[in-house]
Amino acid sequence: MQNEPTRETLGFQAEVKQLLNLMIHSLYSNKEIFLRELVSNASDAADKLRFEALTDAALFEEDSDLRIRISFDKESRTITISDNGIGMSRQEVIENIGTIAKSGTKEFFGRLTGDQAKDASLIGQFGVGFYSSFIVAEKVVLVTRRAGLTREHGVRWESKGEGDYTIEMVEKPSRGTEVILHLREGEEDFLDAWRIKSIIRKYSDHIQLPIVMAEDEKEEVVNQASALWARSKSEITQEQYEEFYKHVAHDNEPPLAHVHARVEGKQEYTQLLYLPSRAPFDLFDRESRHGIKLYVRRVFIMDDAEQLMPQYLRFVRGVVDSNDLPLNVSREILQESKTIEAIRSGCVKKVLAMIEELDAEKYITFWKEFGRVLKEGIGEDYANREKIAKLLRFASTHLDTPEESVSLSDYVSRMKEGQEKIYFVTAESFAGAKNSPHLEIFRKKGIEVLLLSDRVDEWLVANLHEFEGRQLQSVAKGDLDLGKLEDEEERKEQQKEGDEYKELAEKIKGSLSEKVKDVRVTFRLTESPACLVADQHDMGMNLERLLKSAGQKVPVSKPILEINPHHPIVQSLKYEEDRFSDWSHILFDQALLSEGGQLEDPAGFVKRLNGLMLALSGR
Ligand code: ADP
Repeated sequence: MQNEPTRETLGFQAEVKQLLNLMIHSLYSNKEIFLRELVSNASDAADKLRFEALTDAALFEEDSDLRIRISFDKESRTITISDNGIGMSRQEVIENIGTIAKSGTKEFFGRLTGDQAKDASLIGQFGVGFYSSFIVAEKVVLVTRRAGLTREHGVRWESKGEGDYTIEMVEKPSRGTEVILHLREGEEDFLDAWRIKSIIRKYSDHIQLPIVMAEDEKEEVVNQASALWARSKSEITQEQYEEFYKHVAHDNEPPLAHVHARVEGKQEYTQLLYLPSRAPFDLFDRESRHGIKLYVRRVFIMDDAEQLMPQYLRFVRGVVDSNDLPLNVSREILQESKTIEAIRSGCVKKVLAMIEELDAEKYITFWKEFGRVLKEGIGEDYANREKIAKLLRFASTHLDTPEESVSLSDYVSRMKEGQEKIYFVTAESFAGAKNSPHLEIFRKKGIEVLLLSDRVDEWLVANLHEFEGRQLQSVAKGDLDLGKLEDEEERKEQQKEGDEYKELAEKIKGSLSEKVKDVRVTFRLTESPACLVADQHDMGMNLERLLKSAGQKVPVSKPILEINPHHPIVQSLKYEEDRFSDWSHILFDQALLSEGGQLEDPAGFVKRLNGLMLALSGR
């Protein structure tokens, strides 16, 4: 410690500067939230201390009455929020208050547009936290000492929120953190006991610790100071549920829905779980936080208890409080714990039911934000597969935009008479799926096909083979078999045409032997001359491309080229001699292109095409 300079000026990380700037401009209409954020941090700090003290009671330093204290001074125009929680060491102050350590921060800031209105809505997703003090304060001083360190290890941090801060070692007899806000000109109305109390009651009533308001020697506890989830539902207002959500989720927007239940029986626990109304910026970041806080008999144990929620529900936020787990439970123990397994499966049930009960409008929001993540559940959670399948929504040939969607139950209920399977096509984009040549016959016959274009969809259909007894069938795989949707007449006609073109198909196969597994006549096309399909048990072409682009080794499976005997190009090929091979290659290449594939030899394709065009124009 002797080596540390006593007073040092350090620069904020670039992102902090951006955040500060944005926040001051975007949150000025809701300034009072700074108090909520600081109280929330103080409460977390107390939770952490209580947890660490489970194994090291000395950390309490003979003061185990944890509380948050708020005072103000009209003369010096300051508000002070102090706690006797865990506190911070010098290094921790630098890491926590001078930088944003969340994973994905850079990417997040990269997405900001410079348009204040748009960016303001993004900022809520990020969680504003400590920096919100600068909305009302021209200068913020933070004095802190980590529990367990001696009194000379106090740290004083000071900043005007303009680009740098100073930090120095000071003496601090009591552990914990004190934040002193020097209010800006015009913010005097916060220097009022009544005002502060009403803000605390509004935003922080749910905080488990007593929040003490100190005024003229008098001290008064302002909040209810009991764990919100432990109160009975009838005593909790919608606003209180929402404020608690903002505290646990670090999200500024109200949640979409919540479920609050006490479970009794073999296991006893309370769960208070929320569906956010929008996805956090790091939903697809592997290191992103999971949302559940674990408590044991009201004592905070850990954040991000990933064992309590499966990956595909990682967006759920909230609290689980168990009566059965030991207080010294660790992440390792959680992994093996039967109690946790039971709690987890109970939580999953509740969450799926909560999603199912959303009204139509909220469901649209939910699906837009989290649908892609929920889809992972089909492969991940075998036991709940059917329940999850009911929650899925897809774009379809019977809808106009990718925003509209259909559930599998709706699809089944409007299947055509005689239709036995649920048809789908996968592609890399909505446009690719919608314009796939494989859909031509389905369009003609008015049969609905689901359009799947999320990356996760391939994984989904690989795991979901049927829904309510109906098989899911890719329209780009295997023989086209429309079952009872075709009439006898049609079938005979096709048989005849098929025989007529058998020879041609064989000949094309000869030209393309290196590229295709087979060439056959098809009736799935009405406009295109040819298309590619995968054998029923081979990997689909879209999946193959996805895996390759992810750098995975993929078993080589050649596609089947199907030709449309009603197309003039195919018909004229019967009589082609000299350029037969060129025509065959072009048919193959354009079939590959139209399903979103990439040509192995684009220059060869262009050369052949030009050759044929010249030949046709007679030059
Ligand atoms: P967040 O609370 O979302 O992590 P903040 O910017 O509010 O973001 O705080 C950053 C970090 O600073 C916290 O995660 C915590 O580690 C630390 N911190 C803030 N306030 C306190 C406090 N009162 N006591 C101890 N640590 C604190």
